Amino acid sequence: MKSSNVPKPGESLAAYVHRLRLALGMSQQAVSEKSGVHAQSIGKIERGHTTVLKQKTQRGLAYALDIPEAHLEAAAKGISVEETGALKFCPQCWIPGNAPDAMWLHIHAHYCFRCGSALRHNCVQCDSPITSLKHRFCPYCGTAYNAPEKAES
Ligand SMILES: [Zn+2]
Ligand SMILES: [Zn+2]
Repeated sequence: MKSSNVPKPGESLAAYVHRLRLALGMSQQAVSEKSGVHAQSIGKIERGHTTVLKQKTQRGLAYALDIPEAHLEAAAKGISVEETGALKFCPQCWIPGNAPDAMWLHIHAHYCFRCGSALRHNCVQCDSPITSLKHRFCPYCGTAYNAPEKAES
């Protein structure tokens, strides 16, 4: 996972989009053409005039900048990717304590791209939403996030 694609703490949407665009070596016009978003709108986003993205703009920009939509949402809201509620992971492939793969965080991902397991976004035991994968255990009930589905014992 390229962690540089994740919004940095405190990074504004404007700075984030600008940084990604430069990292890709793209002009605003090129991003506009790839995303289907008007170049003027991209300019407004980068100047910090637009802080809330319409769904269509968010989708186009995420595609053009090659990032999950959740990352743009997080930058726009000034929160971490984990807090967008789009936090999902594969109970088979995720290694606790490591960052989840960006593929799982994709807004439309429901199954693991590697093994096909259903992605999990809440605690198997108490159903609390997972708010941070920096934790290995559910803060509410202490169940390990990658624990197998409720086993009969
Ligand atoms: Zn998997
Ligand atoms: Zn729990």
